[in-house]
Amino acid sequence: MAMTNRDGNGGEAKPDGEFDALIIGAGFSGLYQLHCLRDRLGLSARVLETADDVGGTWYWNRYPGARCDSESHSYSYYFSKELLDEWEWTERYPAQPEIMRYLRFVADRLDLRRDIQFETKVRACTYDEAENRWHVETEAGEHFVATYLISAVGCLSATNVPDIPGRDDFEGEWYHTGEWPHDGVDFHGKRVGQIGTGSTGIQAVPVIAETAGQLTVFQRTANYSVPARNGPLTPERKRWMREKQDEIREIIRSTPNAHPFRISETKVFDVDEDERRALMEKAWETGGLRFRACFQDLLTSKASNDVVAAFLKDKIREIVKDKETAEALADIDHPYAAKRPPIDTNYFETFNRDNVTLINLREDPIRRITPRGIRLKSGREIALDVIVFATGFDAMSGPLLRIDVTGRDGLTIQEAWSAGPRTYLGLQVAGFPNMFTVTGPGSPSVLCNMPVPIEQHVEWITDCIAYMRKNGISTIEPSEDAVESWVAHVNDCANKTLLPEAGHSWYLGANVPGKPRVFMPYAGGMARYRAICEDIVAKGYEGFVMDGGEGQAAGTRPADFTPAGAADQPGV
Ligand code: FAD
Ligand code: NAP
Repeated sequence: MAMTNRDGNGGEAKPDGEFDALIIGAGFSGLYQLHCLRDRLGLSARVLETADDVGGTWYWNRYPGARCDSESHSYSYYFSKELLDEWEWTERYPAQPEIMRYLRFVADRLDLRRDIQFETKVRACTYDEAENRWHVETEAGEHFVATYLISAVGCLSATNVPDIPGRDDFEGEWYHTGEWPHDGVDFHGKRVGQIGTGSTGIQAVPVIAETAGQLTVFQRTANYSVPARNGPLTPERKRWMREKQDEIREIIRSTPNAHPFRISETKVFDVDEDERRALMEKAWETGGLRFRACFQDLLTSKASNDVVAAFLKDKIREIVKDKETAEALADIDHPYAAKRPPIDTNYFETFNRDNVTLINLREDPIRRITPRGIRLKSGREIALDVIVFATGFDAMSGPLLRIDVTGRDGLTIQEAWSAGPRTYLGLQVAGFPNMFTVTGPGSPSVLCNMPVPIEQHVEWITDCIAYMRKNGISTIEPSEDAVESWVAHVNDCANKTLLPEAGHSWYLGANVPGKPRVFMPYAGGMARYRAICEDIVAKGYEGFVMDGGEGQAAGTRPADFTPAGAADQPGV
């Protein structure tokens, strides 16, 4: 007897392997997308996930010190009062194990696991135009078919291990932070080398230093960091979080980057030097990403940014006792927050330990990895037992480009994005009908506290699919014109800020050799982005081409992206 899929809430049963929707990825995005399609629309849906559990980012990134830079009460789903009421965070910034527990709780509470197939890596997705269906193949050779394909593969899920000569000859252990062993790594007494001083590296250094015999930090680009001031949540704070859910929701939905605090309206030069200094000291004491909110114009005025950057560099010189090390750490070449600004617990202080050394790769670059360690250009060799690659990700476009996705007329995603990713709203790609991307390039995603854009994207996609089904529409995809307009708008928004000035950042794809340099996230602000998406729907899905229904929008080119009432504040 042919097996059939049990079908959510009353949809038609389908042959084995056939679904209304296939979702790739079981992180924040994929879990909520499954809930919406299955439990709200009653579709048959299946999530395919490489890992053997839910969690996404928080499944993979188990390195020492891994924790959030979003405050816990905002790093949550806000669509369900029950979920908010039933979960309680314990720290201002939750650590990786707690976020994993949270996502497991959500998956169990919403009974999602029964429609997630774990240990299943998607290899290829091919659109069949005659059938109007997506065929999905896994690494293990399984085959699935669906009408809608939703990529929830994440922005930071494709690890970037630099191809340093000799890497494979290393006789010690090496690990990338984004694929960390589940049973941990024992650093006791070992000589550890860590490459990378981004958000990850800055979190890992203080914790690794606690047990390593010797830790050598290889820094190519010096980075700012502000103390997180993490700590346990008091009972009063927990009560406040529970009682103020509606207010918190209102704030995270209305601020440019969806964090639970408002950005000051004061510009750096609105106040005199003493007051400016006092505001920065206060923000430094408050800590975390709230530091960035102390002035309104940090990312739109270079002169203003210079003031704050100088303050932060002086803090490094105050903390780090060895002068040469302090200068190397403070020798930062980009504006503050032009990269996602790291926050830390004792990062700079850790360089005062006897067992920690900084190597400034700007002065003496890595030449190769040897069987015994890392050799620098000067010929100096640092003997190592363990190398930690805190070297980041092939971000935003990387995870989807690692799948063989083929759309209409044999167009591959690799061809469509050969000069950089091109999407409409970060949600769809021209030539790939009925394929949706949650937090795709061109969405505000990584410039935000991400659960907020994720919820918005997932709800937009769900509403779109509901609309299609109600109106007998068989396909949706953006027009090339609409994509062109959106890409131009994404660039315009970025160019109004200092973000592109961090020339080596992953926002630009500059961290991966050979990757086209295109500013990928939408810097126009989450609130404005939400208003744009709503406006486009109100105008009958302006910019999208829909087939099969009556009187649908036929790819009109949006004139601009200035919906009424949307704040023109950069989303940074
Ligand atoms: P992910 O969590 O990345 O999930 C994608 C899933 O897709 C993964 O499980 C992956 O295995 C799966 N997948 C990918 N390709 C395939 C395939 N071919 N086949 C099958 N499965 C596949 N954001 C914040 O807002 N605040 C923070 O504090 C914060 N901290 C972060 C810390 C780290 C270390 C990192 C790396 C990211 C952080 N982020 C943070 C961003 C974080 O990625 C998002 O907040 C969020 O977790 C993304 O959820 P997602 O479901 O979209 O993607
Ligand atoms: P990243 O910001 O891209 O940093 C990678 C680091 O590795 C950089 O210092 C980079 O130097 C260095 N590097 C890369 N290749 C190198 C090479 N060949 N030789 C020497 N150095 C090399 O990556 P990440 O730190 O993993 O962070 C990525 C994003 O994840 C963050 O921006 C953030 O959005 C998220 N994240 C958040 C948190 C949090 O606090 N919640 C924690 C971790 C990650 P260059 O700068 O010179 O390229």
